[in-house]
Amino acid sequence: MTLAAKASSKKSSSDNSRDGEKQLPKPAALLTWYDRHRRKLPWRAGKGERPDPYRVWLSEIMLQQTTVRAVAPYYARFLARWSDVRVLAAAPIEDVLKAWAGLGYYARARNLHACARAVVERHGGAFPADEAELRTLPGIGSYTAAAIAAIAFDAPASPVDGNIERVMARLFAIEQPLPGAKPQLRRLAREVTPLQRAGDFAQAMMDLGATICTPKRPACALCPWNQSCAAFARGDAERFPRRTPKPEGALRRGAAFVAHRTDGYLLVRTRPATGLLGGMTEVPTTEWTADFDERDALKSAPQLARSTAIAWRRLPGVVRHVFTHFPLELSVYVADLQPTARAPKNARWIKISELDDEAFPSLMRKVLADAVDRFGEANRPPSPRARARAARR
Ligand code: SF4
Repeated sequence: MTLAAKASSKKSSSDNSRDGEKQLPKPAALLTWYDRHRRKLPWRAGKGERPDPYRVWLSEIMLQQTTVRAVAPYYARFLARWSDVRVLAAAPIEDVLKAWAGLGYYARARNLHACARAVVERHGGAFPADEAELRTLPGIGSYTAAAIAAIAFDAPASPVDGNIERVMARLFAIEQPLPGAKPQLRRLAREVTPLQRAGDFAQAMMDLGATICTPKRPACALCPWNQSCAAFARGDAERFPRRTPKPEGALRRGAAFVAHRTDGYLLVRTRPATGLLGGMTEVPTTEWTADFDERDALKSAPQLARSTAIAWRRLPGVVRHVFTHFPLELSVYVADLQPTARAPKNARWIKISELDDEAFPSLMRKVLADAVDRFGEANRPPSPRARARAARR
């Protein structure tokens, strides 16, 4: 009797993986499938090539919470500019943040730079092969350490991300919901990981989760493990992994102030180095709160003139953005000022024609897309995305 069949006969499968009663999915079957169907990814070494730990690390950091499609152009640009860890370590953090702008989760960019420095200072520019040693480096958690150890050094480590959790939960029909089931899923992943070709096996698991064992409509007929999959045997693969319902973050609201100087400058400031969007550039805003009262918005507008009142104009609609823990809506106010206007403390003027040189996060790019094309010929033309967004509103 296979494990899948055993699992399907149980009401609760929390016992599915009890020692002594398992028939684990065969690594060889997955590796054979991988040899035929592996994805071609820019950071993936070709067959028989030795992976470069720097490239593996760079891609794994970029891929945290981000899709392959979004990462590919950033990866290419980073690699063209910073070809190895020493060059990246020597780069100014501001340049790294600017190059990262738009990829999101900006703490990763700071950690990327800190990690490059640590690898140079503590390890002479060579990434350590040991999983525990990797975990001591900035920005490298247990998943990334296991991924680097496996892919770059062929160590028998088991990186378990959301895709691999899904595969494990289905293979063993794990009834316990996430996140409580995580330790069990990690243990099962370790148990199926072979000692040989561990790097290929880790990448095969990633490919299986991304292309076959997808969240909706998994292609079980094409899956190399379907004969040992409990969820497939039960015919309810899509119901796994189970999840504990997550309370939605409360909506926060606020206002953003786009102060425009008629000689083609915008007022910006830099966010604190730590915390949400740490170190990124923004236009001044109010606090973002659940009880934001728009009638008080202008009390938080930047003070740009001592004697005359600034004529702030509110743009129609709001800019919406969703962070991991809360959705946000910002009202956008714009004002036109004389070239003599002075920047308040902690703010500075930048040329509108040089906006692309600043490390604006996606939220601020949305705010500016809404505002900048209203300022006239001194500004660059709005992007196609800005036009499309305006048309949707
Ligand atoms: S048989 Fe289906 S559910 Fe099971 S691992 Fe393969 S794709 Fe996923």
